[in-house]
Parts: sequence; structure tokens; C-alpha cells
Amino acid sequence: MNRLGLVFDSRYLHHAISNPSPENPDRLRSLYLHLQQEKYNKNTRHISPREVTSAEICMVHSSFYVEQLREHAVKADPFSYDRDTYLMDDSLPTARLAAGGCLALADRIMAGEIDYGFSLIRPPGHHASAGRGMGFCIFNNVAITAEYLRRQYGLRRILILDFDVHHANGTQEIFYDSNEVLLLSIHQKGIFPFTGDSDEIGIEGGAGYTVNIPVHSQFGDSEYTYLLGHLLQGLVEQYLPQFILVSAGYDGHRDDSISGTLLSTQWFATVTHLLRRHAFESCNNRLLYVLEGGYNSAALEKSVLATIDAMLVKNFERPGILSVPRAEKLLVDHPLRQYWTI
Ligand SMILES: [Zn+2]
Repeated sequence: MNRLGLVFDSRYLHHAISNPSPENPDRLRSLYLHLQQEKYNKNTRHISPREVTSAEICMVHSSFYVEQLREHAVKADPFSYDRDTYLMDDSLPTARLAAGGCLALADRIMAGEIDYGFSLIRPPGHHASAGRGMGFCIFNNVAITAEYLRRQYGLRRILILDFDVHHANGTQEIFYDSNEVLLLSIHQKGIFPFTGDSDEIGIEGGAGYTVNIPVHSQFGDSEYTYLLGHLLQGLVEQYLPQFILVSAGYDGHRDDSISGTLLSTQWFATVTHLLRRHAFESCNNRLLYVLEGGYNSAALEKSVLATIDAMLVKNFERPGILSVPRAEKLLVDHPLRQYWTI
């Protein structure tokens, strides 16, 4: 049985404009071609996406926001809604198919047909909040998936790891008062969307269930592996997630000029091994990656393929979690220690 399901579809290339934008169909074109290779054809399952329904969108977004999107999508200026998040004819069907691709994979994982999934979609989602799209994001794909898992399957402990180089502000806002979703976001400090300080920890019943790790530009593989290795170990052991969702952004790659962080292609394989281990130990291997950013298409392609290769190897590795003083320092007085033993 092939235990990795992939969603990719040429319809994800339809959301496009003639003006230059870092978020454009060329991000995925060559990756999609690579996925036609026999190695991937033979060893993965290609899952067809569906469009999310309006009711599924409204599990996390307001109907007012959805109405605004409809109005702006037919205007002559594609940037009438937001200066980054362009909207035109094909944008909303593509965005509905993006969220729906994640739900199709979540269903297969919950049915036990596959262990792992990777939803290779666009537009990305993690900056979209209940009532506002921004930063190229229209619908919050990972948040819709988490909410779907709660409502459809009754899950009560869902872990979302967001390693996109930008803060998961939309996902954070949607689940800020909930303890049924634990969000761990590691992102570069001081860049768009300028949120995600370590003292943003959640409110009311959700206090402690938002964990933000803002890192310095220049952090790379060893700092990230130390931080995530250490944090996931503690959080997974104590929270016991029933499902692990990953907002997988590749814009922290050293060749991606949108950020200053220095992650290598191979690091995305390292974090995948870490996550496979935690998914094995806590939640029957249920692990679903949802593509977020990544704006150097060559780096994105290599890093996504490194991720997929790490999902395909028979046994996961256990990367060493070596102490790195400048990363260790970030955790010393971190507010998460009020809630979790780290
Ligand atoms: Zn990003």
C-alpha cells in the first residue's frame, strides 16, 4: 500500500494575473512535472481534490468576508481588495479547490487509506483570518482542515506546526481561544505580518495553546532543528495530538530572497523525519502537510521533493537535537513554560 497521498492539479495554476507577483503559477509548474516521474507515480497515491462547500468555508470565515471576495473578484483591478492578494475570475474556484484538496487528503488519512498527505496547492492560506485575506492568502486552508477534523471526526486535540518563515497570524486568530488546536509557529522576527511575538499565547480556554517562536534572520538548520526538536518533544508528549497538520512554507530557504533565514534543502527532510516520529508515537501516523509559501521556485521544488522523499523512505530517522546556545536562549524565559514542561 502506498501510504503517501499527494494532491496536485493543473487547476491550481489558474489563479494568475499578468502583473508580476511572487505568488504565481510558476511556483508549482516544474514541481508538478517532476511528480509525473515513475518514482512518484509508483510510490504515492494521487488524490483528486474537490471544491470546499460554502458551509465548510464558513466554519472559519465570516459570510461577510466571502461576500466581499465575490464582489472584488469581478472588479477590473485585481488588487482592489488588497495590495498583495489579487483576485480575479478564477481566484475563488482555485481557492475553494485548494482548501478542498486538504479535506480530500484528511478524509483518506482518517479512513486509514494513507498515513501521510501533502496538499501541493495554491493560493496559500495561513495569513487569512476569519474576516480578512492578506499576504496572498484567500481561504485559510489549514484552519478549514483543522475545523473539519473537529466537526466531521470529533477530534479534540489537533497540533498545527507552521514553519513558514512568516507568522501564522490568520491561523492564530481563528483558534486563539481554543484548546482543541495547539498552534506552534516558528517564523522570522520583524517581517510581514509583524505579529507572532512570544507573549502571544492565546486567551481564555486557549491560553497556552498558541506557541510563537520568533527567530532571528540568519538562523538556519541547527537552530531550527534544536528549537523544533526540543519543543515538539515536550508538546507532543503532553498534548498527545490526534492529528498533526503542517503549514509547510518553504520561504525560509537560504535561496529564498523573501527572508533572511538560512534553511537548507535537506532541513525540510530533517523536520519531516522528526514529525514522522511524533506522528507515529502519538497519532497513528496521521500527518498532513499543506503548502504555504516558498517563492524561489527552484528551492521550493527541491525542498518539496526532499520532504516527499523523507515521507517515502521506509523508516524515519531520529535526527540529533544538539544544543545551540543562541537558539536555547530563546526558550529560557519563554511564556510557554507557564503551560508546558519544556
Ligand atoms: Zn511565508
